[in-house]
Amino acid sequence: MVRYDIKCPVCGTINRGLDLEETDGWMECEKCGTLAQQRGIHSAVMISALHSREDYFKSQKADHQAAAG
Ligand SMILES: [Zn+2]
Repeated sequence: MVRYDIKCPVCGTINRGLDLEETDGWMECEKCGTLAQQRGIHSAVMISALHSREDYFKSQKADHQAAAG
């Protein structure tokens, strides 16, 4: 499950740990109660699903080696 930290477009409060997959991108601000839909959530989820965690760490390691070498 992917959790998102989303900044409220109205009051600027960061709403942490939102499960936007379940709400189809909608979030309700915990401070002011504004409802806002985040675009691009599904594409972001697809990207994170395509790249496994292992691949992510491999690429990170390669970056470090390139920087060190
Ligand atoms: Zn707000």
